[in-house]
Amino acid sequence: MRLRDELGTLYTNADFADLYPNLGQPALSPWRLALVTVLQFLENLTDRQVADQVRGRVDWKYALGLDLTDPGFDRSVLSEFRTRLTQNQAEARLLDRMLEHFQTKGLIRARGHQRTDSTHVLAAVRRLQRLESAAEMVRAALNALSGADPEWVRRVAQPEWFERYGHRVEDYRLPKGKATREAYGLAVATDGFTLLDALNGEGTPEGLRRLPMIKVFEQWWAQNFIREEGRIRWRRGDELAPSGERFNSPYDAEAAYSTRREHEWIGYKVHISETCDAELPHLITHVHTTNSTIQDVTSTAPIHAALAQRNLLPEKHIVDAGYIDAELLASSVPEHGVNLIGPTRENRSWQARAGTGYAASHFQIDWDHCQVTCPQGATTRGWYPTVNRFGTLEILIQFDREVCAACAVRSLCTKAKGGRRVVIQPREKHEALRLAREYATSQEWQALYHRRAGIEGTLSQGTRALGLRRTRYRGLRKTALQHAATCAAINVLRAVSWLNGDKPGRTRVSRFSQLAVSA
Ligand code: SF4
Repeated sequence: MRLRDELGTLYTNADFADLYPNLGQPALSPWRLALVTVLQFLENLTDRQVADQVRGRVDWKYALGLDLTDPGFDRSVLSEFRTRLTQNQAEARLLDRMLEHFQTKGLIRARGHQRTDSTHVLAAVRRLQRLESAAEMVRAALNALSGADPEWVRRVAQPEWFERYGHRVEDYRLPKGKATREAYGLAVATDGFTLLDALNGEGTPEGLRRLPMIKVFEQWWAQNFIREEGRIRWRRGDELAPSGERFNSPYDAEAAYSTRREHEWIGYKVHISETCDAELPHLITHVHTTNSTIQDVTSTAPIHAALAQRNLLPEKHIVDAGYIDAELLASSVPEHGVNLIGPTRENRSWQARAGTGYAASHFQIDWDHCQVTCPQGATTRGWYPTVNRFGTLEILIQFDREVCAACAVRSLCTKAKGGRRVVIQPREKHEALRLAREYATSQEWQALYHRRAGIEGTLSQGTRALGLRRTRYRGLRKTALQHAATCAAINVLRAVSWLNGDKPGRTRVSRFSQLAVSA
């Protein structure tokens, strides 16, 4: 009830007008559907439970502005509303409009401090062994084709397929023993190619080849099998597609296998950004859902772009080392006025790890004259701008072979037979990285970076209380919608709590750690 009294309806029909045709009225006001969706994720309810709550709960009726006698709606309208959002690429709108509303209420502002971190998200599909995947792919393709053109399937299907693909494929039901499993695998592979040949044969309706499941089937088959000179075999490890393009289940081809420290999972990754200023509630400003194999560092620029679009860019953005590289350090200030605060990745060269060796940071660079001076006072023989295998510009510095050969401290500097080589980034990146490393040694930086820990609490709230850890739906877009709705729900909880006079909790320090702090 406090939500309605203090924050109003949060949404208006105009916020979603473009999702509906001009003619005809939607069954329920779009603003109510939007608010119901947020309340659904706030209480982690199913569609059926939501329909019951709307019918039976006074506080929900009050928040939705419904009469006490209102009969509510059929649960299917929730699914239709979500489909409208995803089909119109408006997954983020639940959060966008809420943030605009909060800005007008003065609960959130740009140019403060924000922090970002990510967590893994499990897909709504089971993890399959490779052999299971192959058989399940054929089964899923046959099911899709049977729905679209049963007569065609009857003509093409071989008698043993009904036995082999009639039931869900599970590892414990598959043949035991290496030889029999290999024979089973070959039979499945042959079936798959037979089906593909039939699909590509003359007289096959074009529509069958265009079925989404058939596209998935073709893609997985090409990624995993090779047919050469009439023989079929599995692809070897070095012949497989990059991990980001591979998938495991026919039912969610966007969910990829990934690992992170001790976790391994099939699914997605969600990056959450929130404000962390003391004088305002800590509200989520952006949620970014990606394929699980995407590196955190590639999400930093899209997060800044999205925050710029919402006019919610921070002045200081606190992140861990995974979100920072030299290019971002150099570009985030001129492009967005955002200072990235976080540890930079360590120099992994043996000289840096040895502690006593001469790493690149020990060399003096004269950018104006393209010259580098080593710790022993020798100057470079060559300065070569080059492009590395990732397509990134860098500069190769070469010292003279004779000078290095005569150097008394050569063992601290190089193991190469020739002169010392040093690779440095272009000037803007190099300087940005150097300044960031220098700043990271200050107490001011330590105090700022200390704030980052609070985002762990938000991830914990999302995963433990609001079901963020596991997707309800299949596919990246629907998963992104779930995440936007969940983060909007967290914002409602926090805004209402703030208006009730509760301040955000501080990051807890264990009693034992407190002893170290006070020692
Ligand atoms: S090995 Fe060459 S580059 Fe390294 S310190 Fe000695 S002279 Fe300088």
